[in-house]
Amino acid sequence: MKLLYLEDNPAARDYVCRGLGERGFEIHTSGDGQEGLDLLLNDRYDLCILDLGLPSLDGIEVMRRLRQARIEIPTLILSARSNIEDRVEGLNVGADDYLVKPFSFEELVARIHSLKRRTSNGEPTPESLEVSDLVMDLDRRAVTRSGQRVELTRKEYALLEYLMMNSGHTLSRKMITERIWGVEFEGYSNAINVHINHLRNKVENGHGKKLIHTVSGVGYVLEEREDEHEVDLLEMA
Ligand code: CA
Repeated sequence: MKLLYLEDNPAARDYVCRGLGERGFEIHTSGDGQEGLDLLLNDRYDLCILDLGLPSLDGIEVMRRLRQARIEIPTLILSARSNIEDRVEGLNVGADDYLVKPFSFEELVARIHSLKRRTSNGEPTPESLEVSDLVMDLDRRAVTRSGQRVELTRKEYALLEYLMMNSGHTLSRKMITERIWGVEFEGYSNAINVHINHLRNKVENGHGKKLIHTVSGVGYVLEEREDEHEVDLLEMA
C-alpha cells in the first residue's frame, strides 16, 4: 500500500514514516500543503494521512481542493486539534477519518487498514486502462500504443489517465483544469491546449487511429471511433 503523509513537523514525520515503513507500507511525505496537493493530483496513492497545520496551504484546504477535483483517495486527518469543530470541519470537507495526536501507533495502523477496507468496497483497483491499442499500466505508470512505449511528462500522464478513466465521456475544460492543475479555470485555458497538443503528438501521430477528440465549445473525449481515419491520412487530406 502506497501512502502519502503530509506533515511539516520533521520529528512527527520521521516517527510515523519509520513505524509504517517497518510494517511494510510504502510511505511518501511532504511538509508543504501546496506541494502535497500537487502530488495527490498527479500521482497515485492508496491513502493519504493529512496534518491540518501546514505551510502554504492548510490541510482543510488541501482536502477541499482534492474533493473538488473529484479525487476520492481515502484520507485520514492526523491532527493535534482535538475540538469538535475541527473534527466536524475535516469530515465535512471530505476526510474519511480523524485521529487526534498524541495517538497510539497500533491505532493508527488499525485505522489505515479499516479505512482501506471501507473505501475499496471489495473491488480490486484496476491495474491498467485500455482504449483501442492504447494501454496505461497504472502500477508502473507506463503507457504503450500498439505495444510501443510512449514517454509522457507528469502532467501529460495525469491528463491522459483522466481521459482514459472517463473514456467515452466528454470532460469539460473546467473539469480538466480542476483535476490536473487543482485551480480555478481562468488563466489555464492555454495550458490545456498546449498539453492536449503534446499528448496528441505523442499518442496519435504516426500511431494509427485518432483517439482524443475535441468537443467544440465544451472540452475533450477519448474514445475509439469506427469511421476514424488514420491521423496521418487525415492530416494529408
Ligand atoms: Ca503541522
